[in-house]
Amino acid sequence: MNRLKKICVFCGSSDGNDPAITEAAVSLGGEFVKQDIELVYGAAKIGVMGTIAQTILDNQGRVIGIIPGFLKVKEVVHEGLTELHTTKNMHDRKLMMQEVSDGFITMPGGFGTLEELFEVITWQQLGLHEKPIGLLNVNGFYDELIAMLSTMVDRGFLSLENFNLLIVDDSITGLLKKMEAFKAPQKPKWLNPERT
Ligand code: AMP
Repeated sequence: MNRLKKICVFCGSSDGNDPAITEAAVSLGGEFVKQDIELVYGAAKIGVMGTIAQTILDNQGRVIGIIPGFLKVKEVVHEGLTELHTTKNMHDRKLMMQEVSDGFITMPGGFGTLEELFEVITWQQLGLHEKPIGLLNVNGFYDELIAMLSTMVDRGFLSLENFNLLIVDDSITGLLKKMEAFKAPQKPKWLNPERT
């Protein structure tokens, strides 16, 4: 059983146009507080990112923000976080997010969200970490992405074993349960964090 004390959430810096996604961000924040899980995220007060952070803070939970210096502008950064870390660049930000978190959840978002998801899952594919990676498929948002990943398996670019690294669920409690039960397949560790 993985004890998930800190979970990093990757999600949109926009709100999107489906109210179910904002509702899911509020529910995820509520569940983190209920289960005493700290949020690690990109430190913005905007979009789905801002909604989940604000929900947790409003309910006396803990939020750790990690932001690169160039994004630390008043219109973006949330100034009321429990902890705020500033990094030199995006690469250092993502490495720190990976190091301090016990697992990762991706909610709906855009390019930034997908980039973070695929980097963290690629690191796991390479054996750099063994932390669970969940995809919260709110309202079928990621159905086509999951279908694309299946195509990659069918066409021989992605092994079924690596496809199965991604834990998918449409319910928050279902996803958290699967993440707690996740066991990474054993792989040779041929890279170390200095080489990410
Ligand atoms: P996107 O999905 O393109 O909206 O990007 C959201 C993801 O990229 C988040 O998980 C953040 O870590 C990062 N990101 C993108 N834009 C921002 C921003 N304005 N402030 C902080 N982080 C951002």
